[in-house]
Amino acid sequence: MQRTHELFQQARELIPGGVNSPVRAFKGVGGEPIFFERGEGPYMWDVDGKRYVDYVNSWGPLIAGHADPEIVRRVQETAAKGLSFGTPVELEVELARTLCQHVPSLEMVRLVNSGTEATMSALRLARAFTGRNKIVKFQGNYHGHVDALLAQAGSGALTLGVPGCPGVPEAVVADTLALPYNDADAVEQCFAEHGGDIAAVIVEPVAGNMNCVPPVPGFLETLREVCDRHDALLIFDEVMTGFRVGPQCAQGRYGITPDLTCLGKVIGGGMPVGAFGGRRDVMEGLAPVGGVYQAGTLAGNPVTMAAGLATLERITAEGAFEGLEATTAELVDGFKQRADAAGIPLAVNQAGSMFGLFFTDDAPVTRFEQVKACDLEAFNRFFHAMLEEGVYLAPAAFEAGFVSLAHDRQAIQETLDAAERAFARV
Ligand code: PLP
Repeated sequence: MQRTHELFQQARELIPGGVNSPVRAFKGVGGEPIFFERGEGPYMWDVDGKRYVDYVNSWGPLIAGHADPEIVRRVQETAAKGLSFGTPVELEVELARTLCQHVPSLEMVRLVNSGTEATMSALRLARAFTGRNKIVKFQGNYHGHVDALLAQAGSGALTLGVPGCPGVPEAVVADTLALPYNDADAVEQCFAEHGGDIAAVIVEPVAGNMNCVPPVPGFLETLREVCDRHDALLIFDEVMTGFRVGPQCAQGRYGITPDLTCLGKVIGGGMPVGAFGGRRDVMEGLAPVGGVYQAGTLAGNPVTMAAGLATLERITAEGAFEGLEATTAELVDGFKQRADAAGIPLAVNQAGSMFGLFFTDDAPVTRFEQVKACDLEAFNRFFHAMLEEGVYLAPAAFEAGFVSLAHDRQAIQETLDAAERAFARV
């Protein structure tokens, strides 16, 4: 690990913490982050030449695996014609059409450069449309680093937002209400108290930033029903779940149609991207049609559009998602069997091609408190043992894992053989 160590020393001098996004830094699991230089299918290679089976997939976007030849070809072909024009281009219309075809709630969509921009803009639009200020979010859900959504929650069932991050003024989160995830009663109570002031509820329909926690039956239904009753908008943050948990995203999988949807990750196939869309009457509030300002120099960039379109073609192809979900089930069941055999308490969750491993005997894991109560030390030992074995899991216990279309029998078998040896060391 000589080269990776040297690069990290240099990076730390130049980039805060040596990383451009905090969770990359291995703070939770200990040790130093690894520098990577090449990927192919389910594998990636670090700068010292070691190969890993990858279950991070760039934190979700690479649903077709690394460096898929057809996706790379389409990106190269598009890049050769020009990297950006700052004008409308045909490929952005194609991507918008593809999104509206596959995502049930989308009548119109606007493309941005990150998931953070998507949620930030959706909030602004929802507040303008309803003429209200309060936003409901859920503890343990992450919506990017939007000031108003960084609010942490206290231990009460309903907590008025307090700044969860230095630099975020209290006034900015004063209208953020943070509730326990998967708790329909808390939502009912919150609306009973604040209903007339709530502009929107924003939720990860499958929570993917507190490990992987699917919605309990009735939770999303309650959100839809309560929002309708109180004329608030329901926003699904599908930045992670979009095309990850189903070919029609979480809203198709669970049969709940939000008013607005935020997307990112998979729809850019590994290029910087975000999108938000939904009801036409709401979306037409955006400039230049309406007065809600929102913009982006590189939004709808043709190279990103090409990567996104090529990736979406792959995942929406007949039978593709079913195969991916079956592969993910094989992996998750395999982890569970091997943990059981080693006498390690492990709970597992799966939604489509997302999965979560929890070192706990408190199954099923549906609540944030349960996630926080898991044995983090056991996870860290497992993480490092797997890393040594050549399997790259997310370097934090609170992150979901991702399987790609490129994960074949051999990659899964290699992973499970490694897990058998790693569990023995936990
Ligand atoms: N929303 C969710 C659900 C996410 O998982 C993320 C990123 O992980 C974001 C929003 C922010 O997206 P980005 O990192 O592209 O700004």
